[in-house]
Amino acid sequence: MNSVLLEARDLHKTYRLGRVDVPVLRGCSLQARRGEFLAVLGSSGSGKSTLLHVMGGLDRPDAGGGAGGGEVLHDGRALSTLSSRALDRYRARTVGFVFQFYHLLPELSVLENAMLPGLVPGGLGKAAARARAATLLDQFGLGHRLGHRPRELSGGERQRTAIARAMVNDPEVLLADEPTGNLDEHTGEDILGLLSEAHAGGLTIVMVTHDQRIADRADRAVRLVDGRLDTA
Ligand code: ADP
Ligand code: MG
Repeated sequence: MNSVLLEARDLHKTYRLGRVDVPVLRGCSLQARRGEFLAVLGSSGSGKSTLLHVMGGLDRPDAGGGAGGGEVLHDGRALSTLSSRALDRYRARTVGFVFQFYHLLPELSVLENAMLPGLVPGGLGKAAARARAATLLDQFGLGHRLGHRPRELSGGERQRTAIARAMVNDPEVLLADEPTGNLDEHTGEDILGLLSEAHAGGLTIVMVTHDQRIADRADRAVRLVDGRLDTA
């Protein structure tokens, strides 16, 4: 098994706004080793979310024939070479996503939200996902909230629900997009504590943030500047 779990290799990503090309990632390379808690620091608009989406297989690097847009590699295998079924599995089982604004579905209960990734192609399946979601929510102090709607929860509780959702398929790596960015300091601490515990339990984490103090909580930090990554 490769000690590098997830690698971004010379990624390029350009958005086209009308006739204007906006290059966001311009040769971005990164290796996340198995078991590490890695932070990517960058100011607002530097391309952190874009990088995370490309690494998670939610978006693609620029086309341009082979090496043009770079590659994301999982365990040494380029995502661009995966069959659509293997890519579904990668999205469902290899990575789990945590978003700044939670992205919970308002009409679903806490338990239903958390079990959702279990139902997508490649996921654990309904029964296993329900059981796993209930266990995680209980572990995260939300055992008494399973039937509640997201609007009945505090920000911290919503983010804990979203983290349970991200972990429900037992992913190898959590991709966390400013997971404390919308929370007060105390609640943000709570969430960082929860991520640290998951990391201590063996989960690899790649977290992006604009906040140096939050990046300091990781094992290692890199900085996204001008579409490239440097040691922070
Ligand atoms: P960050 O997460 O670091 O704030 P983003 O990755 O969200 O940065 O965005 C980087 C840049 O790309 C910004 O200038 C943003 O406006 C632009 N951008 C992001 N998504 C899109 C999109 N879908 N279409 C056009 N421009 C985008
Ligand atoms: Mg962002």
